[in-house]
Amino acid sequence: MTRSFQHLRPESPSEACEMKAKHGDHAVFWAGGTDLLLQWRRGAVDIDYCIDLSGLTELRQIKRGENETAIGALATIASLQTDESLGGDFPVLLEMADRFATPQIRNVATVGGNLCHGVPSADSAPPLIALDAEVKLLSPIGVRILPLESFFEGPKETALGDAEMLVDVRIRRLPTRTVCTFERMARSYVDIALASAACRLTVDAESRISDARIVLGAVAPIPLRSAGAEELLVGVLLADVTADLLDGVGEQAASDARPISDVRTSAAYRKHVSAVLARRAAAETVRRLGE
Ligand SMILES: Cc1cc2nc3c(=O)[nH]c(=O)nc-3n(C[C@H](O)[C@H](O)[C@H](O)COP(=O)(O)OP(=O)(O)OC[C@H]3O[C@@H](n4cnc5c(N)ncnc54)[C@H](O)[C@@H]3O)c2cc1C
Repeated sequence: MTRSFQHLRPESPSEACEMKAKHGDHAVFWAGGTDLLLQWRRGAVDIDYCIDLSGLTELRQIKRGENETAIGALATIASLQTDESLGGDFPVLLEMADRFATPQIRNVATVGGNLCHGVPSADSAPPLIALDAEVKLLSPIGVRILPLESFFEGPKETALGDAEMLVDVRIRRLPTRTVCTFERMARSYVDIALASAACRLTVDAESRISDARIVLGAVAPIPLRSAGAEELLVGVLLADVTADLLDGVGEQAASDARPISDVRTSAAYRKHVSAVLARRAAAETVRRLGE
């Protein structure tokens, strides 16, 4: 049986952190509530104080600076689809958002909630890690900035401290001739991913791959970079990327994956799918770079 809780409406991010520091484990930050409501109904979280972040409208904004874009923690997944400058600079985020759940969920679910829930299947994590995103965290002690890659510590475990909240996600302007793509597979389009993969490649003036990221989702306790798959790609001329090389990228990604079996599918199938998706993402990235 669920219990009632007290609804708190902070007027600033600092006040939200102070509330969390005051009420500790009895309080939760509530963004869109799409994860929390299910957990609360199941009795998986015990909430005495709900710190409702929805009034912090400045955290809904996507701010574009000269060299950096900051996506507010409360920006919805739907807003990634409609923000024109974001779609132009980082089309992979629009492509990810297009595949995220349903319009109803996308209108409410936030980027911050997706990351802070800390599940390995979070769709926004692989593309944002591939883009070398950083997260700005605020607590009563102050602000710190972390690479998103080191934000995830285990299933539903993040680097967030006790009274710390995510303020925004920052992405620096990408080098020229950089493309990032995202692939995902789920049982149905409303289901969370069985596996996902993002690939980001940069090529130099000779069209040689100078930098690579392959990031896998839902196949390890945290979103995972496949260093082996990245190494296979770096230093290769675009024109020399063969089907065999792409097969190798997929195989290496699968070998780095550490999936579990659960109600959605088996670990063996997840490994197979991670090979397919990493290969597909790399092939599509190479194709777009060659256009
Ligand atoms: C039907 C359905 C389909 C879904 N499909 C997908 C899908 O396709 N892909 C996918 O990735 N997810 C999916 N989800 C999961 C969910 O919608 C996302 O994870 C969503 O982005 C969570 O955001 P939220 O704002 O609703 O988070 P909330 O539920 O409000 O919060 C989630 C967690 O993050 C914490 N939190 C939220 N904001 C902050 C902050 N700023 N600072 C610190 N902590 C914070 C909360 O305390 C809580 O622990 C689905 C969920 C449902 C119900």
